[in-house]
Amino acid sequence: MKPKLIVVGAAGRMGKRILALALEDGLFDIAGTVERKDHPDIGKDAGLLASAAQINVKLDSTYPIGANVVIDFSRPAAADSSIDHCAENGVALVLGTTGLSDQQRERIKTASEKVPIVYATNMSVGMNLLFTQVGKVTAMLGDDYDIEIVEQHHRFKKDAPSGSALTLAANICKAAGKKFPDALVPGRAGKDQARKKGTIGVHAVRAGDITGKHEVIFSTLGETVTLSHTAHTRDTFARGALRAAQWLADKKTGLYSMTDVLGIK
Ligand code: NAD
Repeated sequence: MKPKLIVVGAAGRMGKRILALALEDGLFDIAGTVERKDHPDIGKDAGLLASAAQINVKLDSTYPIGANVVIDFSRPAAADSSIDHCAENGVALVLGTTGLSDQQRERIKTASEKVPIVYATNMSVGMNLLFTQVGKVTAMLGDDYDIEIVEQHHRFKKDAPSGSALTLAANICKAAGKKFPDALVPGRAGKDQARKKGTIGVHAVRAGDITGKHEVIFSTLGETVTLSHTAHTRDTFARGALRAAQWLADKKTGLYSMTDVLGIK
């Protein structure tokens, strides 16, 4: 039997691609598609909304009972409902929504004592490779290299800096023995903005339809090393989320990252 999947944020940019690719792969049965209750497409066929086939599952605002796994790419305000639904009903959760609060992260931890959860700010293979390597490069280059993160996303993105930029920053801080997020300087403006040694600049560009680009710049007097990742299409995140949902099938409880799913450290 195929696992039964609920997609939350199903009419969004990511939700539609997750649904379309899940239908293409045929590895899941679509048990439900959840959206905010005032979404104009509530009641319409979710498969057709995702530019795929008619699936006779209507876009709804409630979670159907009996699913095996939820994939949530929605809004921070909506993520609590997915976390609570999964914990209360024994459903695995893949959470890709970014911009969550510290309290929400605690809620995820508590819920993961009851159900298995993959929470990752970026579900692409390449970005997770970067997450694992950025700390190593930080440690190898040492504290004479200034570190700045520049991320670029489309004009519709709500949160800034991106969740992935913050994960990169957290990994850098860990490797350099700095306090996260205290060491971060988000953007710079004003007359007295000379770089303070040991800080990490984080800059968010919002333009056009850029899917996602992250650069980590390590620069000292005489040279610059840049690590960078570019996502060409949202499908890279959607495929990662579906892979995580499959990977969770034999897990009972626990909080996992995408590097666990991909088996890279
Ligand atoms: P989007 O705005 O296109 O889609 C979000 C959808 O969530 C919308 O359709 C919205 O109506 C819906 N929504 C709002 N409130 C809801 C509620 N209460 N219940 C259910 N649905 C609700 O945004 P997007 O570009 O698809 O991104 C969604 C989230 O995923 C963002 O937080 C984004 O940063 C994140 N994201 C994560 C990754 C990753 O790899 N982890 C990759 C891309 C995007």
